[in-house]
Amino acid sequence: MDADVVVVGAGALGLSTGLHCALAGCSVAVVERRTAGSQASGRAAGLFKSVQADELRTRLARRSIEQAVSFADWAGVPLEVARSGSFLIARTGAHRELLRRELGQSRRWGADVSEATAGQLADGLSYYRAVGDEYALWCPEDIYIEEPASLIRAYLAACQRCGVTLLEDEPVTGIPVAGGRVTGVETATRSITAPVVVDAAGAWVRQVAELAGARVPLAPVRHQLLITRPAPQVDPGDPIARVVDAAAYLRPARGGLMFGGFEASPLPLDPRRQPASFSTDDVPLDLGVLRKLAAQVAGEVPAAETGPVAEHRGGLFTMSSDGRFTVGPVPGVPGFWVASGCNGSGFSSSPALGEALAAWITSGAAPPGMIRLAPDRLGSASEEALVKDGLWQYAHYYDPAPSDLV
Ligand SMILES: Cc1cc2nc3c(=O)[nH]c(=O)nc-3n(C[C@H](O)[C@H](O)[C@H](O)COP(=O)(O)OP(=O)(O)OC[C@H]3O[C@@H](n4cnc5c(N)ncnc54)[C@H](O)[C@@H]3O)c2cc1C
Repeated sequence: MDADVVVVGAGALGLSTGLHCALAGCSVAVVERRTAGSQASGRAAGLFKSVQADELRTRLARRSIEQAVSFADWAGVPLEVARSGSFLIARTGAHRELLRRELGQSRRWGADVSEATAGQLADGLSYYRAVGDEYALWCPEDIYIEEPASLIRAYLAACQRCGVTLLEDEPVTGIPVAGGRVTGVETATRSITAPVVVDAAGAWVRQVAELAGARVPLAPVRHQLLITRPAPQVDPGDPIARVVDAAAYLRPARGGLMFGGFEASPLPLDPRRQPASFSTDDVPLDLGVLRKLAAQVAGEVPAAETGPVAEHRGGLFTMSSDGRFTVGPVPGVPGFWVASGCNGSGFSSSPALGEALAAWITSGAAPPGMIRLAPDRLGSASEEALVKDGLWQYAHYYDPAPSDLV
């Protein structure tokens, strides 16, 4: 079998990259170890966020929102999206300042964001009992996808329309290199010849890169969320709420409330040190972490702390030392590309990242700003430093280090 492009991994990033390569005229095969969307992408909260730490990420986030709401127009397949908007809420002086800064810069970078009045917050969020002295931003562009599987299904249907070959339950076991270039991939049952191979293997990105003799230093870190049983105080039409000082997010889900957050001491988990059969189902879950985070907003959202839990799920983010996506050509192995380093936003950024990477692969020129996401920036820091920095980036999801990417 041969293809112009082989993508390893059928999560949101791999499927979007494969789809956009096919839309650009390439023959594409996506090879998946298990089933499409069964790992991190199938566990996502489905939140899209227009307020970001720098201009490049703002552009990618807003482009992704645009692509999600117009999915049927460009991909030919319907996708249901909740155009809920979101509140970003701060309850401390330092976080107020952070949000004021984000308001100014996000507006400069084109996002539609404004200060929310106390009344807007009190009336606009039925599941949140505002105290009255919060500082909040209203972000009308923000959306969510109720069930993450629906984005995966939409990508799959669009891929099928474009003739993408999907091979499931077929782990890639080899990435041959000849004359200094990748020549395709191998699985237990076949070889696929291709001049371009994209590593979109999520938490397994490093193992897959190692098959090609490359190092892509990313640190997988656990993330969890819960969904409560249906609750009368949750209006399904409510917006998303992000309480930045508690590093927590909330949204309506299945008649109840979704709650997730970013603990200060998250759990790193490297699949390379796990049995070969390791999957997201084996990531140990700890409801105590979420209950502790929920206690920080117990006054405003009692249901998050005490509501009966209908679902508790989790998976792995791939964190980079600088918190940026890792997308582009892998140094030293021509023809080998990576789409990873999601840093917790790979689901919502997948439309625009896939589009940009496909444009880069097919034209040979990096789209504006993308060169600064390429993996050659990651250097050769020690494993300890990588994990330490990755954990810092995780814990500071809502108050990231200043960034000047454009
Ligand atoms: C609880 C939770 C909530 C989240 N909420 C959000 C959110 O609200 N918004 C957001 O933007 N992001 C969110 N994320 C992050 C988001 O899920 C990830 O950024 C995104 O799914 C990453 O996509 P991916 O394609 O890189 O990885 P994955 O979805 O994990 O896909 C990688 C695929 O590669 C396959 N693979 C691995 N090795 C091989 C191999 N050797 N051969 C073939 N295939 C292989 C795997 O089986 C897997 O299917 C959340 C994550 C979690 C865990």
